Amino acid sequence: MKDIAPGLLDKIQKDFAEALAKSPVAKRLDDLIEKGLATHSDSLKYAQEVGDILRKVFSKHLTADALPDGRMYYNIAKRILEPTLTSEHHLVANMAARVQEVLNTNAGLGLKGIKPPPDEWRIKGIVDRLAVEEDFNKIKWILDEPIRNFAQHVVDETVRVNADFHFESGMSPTITRTVVSETCDWCDKLAGVYKYKDVKETGNPVFMRHERCDCLVEYDPGDGKKVNAHSKKAAGSAEDIAWQKQAAKKREERRAEEAEWNKRAEAVAKAAAERRAKK
Ligand SMILES: [Zn+2]
Repeated sequence: MKDIAPGLLDKIQKDFAEALAKSPVAKRLDDLIEKGLATHSDSLKYAQEVGDILRKVFSKHLTADALPDGRMYYNIAKRILEPTLTSEHHLVANMAARVQEVLNTNAGLGLKGIKPPPDEWRIKGIVDRLAVEEDFNKIKWILDEPIRNFAQHVVDETVRVNADFHFESGMSPTITRTVVSETCDWCDKLAGVYKYKDVKETGNPVFMRHERCDCLVEYDPGDGKKVNAHSKKAAGSAEDIAWQKQAAKKREERRAEEAEWNKRAEAVAKAAAERRAKK
């Protein structure tokens, strides 16, 4: 029997790379990172794009007709899914780590963004699940939405490992979870701000993501910074510095105005004294 895995893998990797190279979402994130404006909301959009491109490429090439006996045998699943999901991981992890570095820099920290390792357990789970099913048509759903979910999870993991790194460096990171488009009670209840110290290794669901969940899980080291009580901006932030410059300018103008009034008052007083002296 002809080994179809190498040929299928080639086609998938080629189509995946081509679609990604044309993606406006990927281009936009690159620009935002260069300008220092990216946040993890952009990482999440990028992950969704990468996941959506890959699931479309899978659905084009991985069909029951293309597989022997209409089944995804283990050795085919492993040789196709391991390399493609691993590159999906690295693409998203690279971008999310670059975004984290932007956030670190903006918060005045000279810390590099770090990348989580590929989730081998998750990849193995998908391969095993495909292989046990005799009829590919009954399991092909796993190459659809879960592929997007896989990419989103890479952003969550990047957020988690960077918060952990900062926590170990003596900072007090907070994790923010926000509902984006869905209306599910579980996610509604989970939305909020958490101290990383409290959710570290407690099995806290703040980093969990159910099927079709597009919640945003973020860590921005700038969020935990002291706020300037007068400017209401993070102390030392660009906004705070701009506010302080503005305030200094106003003080300067007021002092000049006061000096002007004092001079006039002096002149008036002097003139009055002279008038009195003449009488
Ligand atoms: Zn959700």
